[in-house]
Amino acid sequence: MKKIAIIGGGIIGLTLANYLDSTKFEITLFDEGIGQATGASAGIISPWLSKRRNKKWYQLAKDGAAFFPKLIQDLKLDETIYSACGTLLLREQTGLLSLAELAETRKKEAPEIGDIQLLSAEQTQVYLPLLKPAPALYVSGGGRLDGRAYLAHATKQAEAHGVTIIREKAIIQSGDTHWQVQSATQHLEADLIAVTAGPFVKPLLEKLAYQVDIRPQKGQLLAFDTPFKESHHWPVAMLDGEADLIPFMNGKILLGATHENDGGWDLTPTKEAFTQLVSGTHHFLENPELFSKQTPNYFVGTRAYTSDFAPFFGPLEETLVVASGLGSSGLTTGPYIGYLLANYFNETTWQTEHYQKPIDTYIKKTC
Ligand SMILES: Cc1cc2nc3c(=O)[nH]c(=O)nc-3n(C[C@H](O)[C@H](O)[C@H](O)COP(=O)(O)OP(=O)(O)OC[C@H]3O[C@@H](n4cnc5c(N)ncnc54)[C@H](O)[C@@H]3O)c2cc1C
Repeated sequence: MKKIAIIGGGIIGLTLANYLDSTKFEITLFDEGIGQATGASAGIISPWLSKRRNKKWYQLAKDGAAFFPKLIQDLKLDETIYSACGTLLLREQTGLLSLAELAETRKKEAPEIGDIQLLSAEQTQVYLPLLKPAPALYVSGGGRLDGRAYLAHATKQAEAHGVTIIREKAIIQSGDTHWQVQSATQHLEADLIAVTAGPFVKPLLEKLAYQVDIRPQKGQLLAFDTPFKESHHWPVAMLDGEADLIPFMNGKILLGATHENDGGWDLTPTKEAFTQLVSGTHHFLENPELFSKQTPNYFVGTRAYTSDFAPFFGPLEETLVVASGLGSSGLTTGPYIGYLLANYFNETTWQTEHYQKPIDTYIKKTC
């Protein structure tokens, strides 16, 4: 049996671990947990109305969203982890009309977008009573994924599937015949390596003489416990501006998220994030004071960005696979990327030109 080491147990690494053929491979996943984006994420799965012009990224994000029914079935995800709750978009009336047109066009190739409805101000409030009456666009196919719950569940599934999980930081060195993986208490000689470490791919690959185009971005999110026990019936609200409102189970409401380029690797929760996110939702709420007097839990994580904001994933060498740069849409694209990487190892199939530029656009050998 060949030995595979996965370095990084966010959404890509844990999904990959679950889809690898455990009759062919002995699988060990190393995860330090620090800075993880998946555990800090907002959970919005709704890529179709993005105005990004990158066609390859859109193809990947669209297929990533379409992959969810298979993921739900294969990993047995229940409603506490993923819910097709629908998405509301709040904009000025002219913006809504052009978004509705875009949605109809994109639905031709992405039927999973579901029903598309322009809502009156009163209808919007029926869909999500926390909002004050305002017109909105509703798409029924949008969903929410609880990143923390997904990781906890995927960890249990992976362990039942025979994966060994080591909660330690690892480093990789190349050896004469095998990759050498070292953590505080473990040493592993691996035939195959997957580096799925978010922005930390940069220091990991630098040790193997690769230069990586990746930078860290700090993201903060506020999680409020509210008395609204019906919250799991409500759709996600993508508001105009930086803040979105994401209702989860049992009255848990997330407000997110900041995009702090200057924050880089920093993981400190800040008052400025509270002010930005609470004031960003203020104008849209029926009760503008709803969040301003409560103390939330903070989630802080580090997103990974390339210079052109597009992800990269796949073989760098025949036995070394990497994936990173998922930016702010990695909950949407990450599970599908993990699945594609597993297919590479299980069946050695790899055809992803329609999803990304060649990997040497982002990673270059330095000697
Ligand atoms: C605040 C916030 C909100 C977001 N909201 C959304 C959203 O609504 N929708 C959406 O689609 N996306 C969202 N994202 C983006 C998404 O969360 C990320 O793109 C995605 O989770 C990245 O997954 P990953 O597996 O590549 O990396 P990560 O989840 O960052 O996991 C990498 C793991 O590798 C570990 N690691 C690093 N180095 C080592 C090492 N040497 N040894 C062992 N382990 C190591 C890290 O500790 C970490 O646990 C959000 C992100 C943030 C921060």
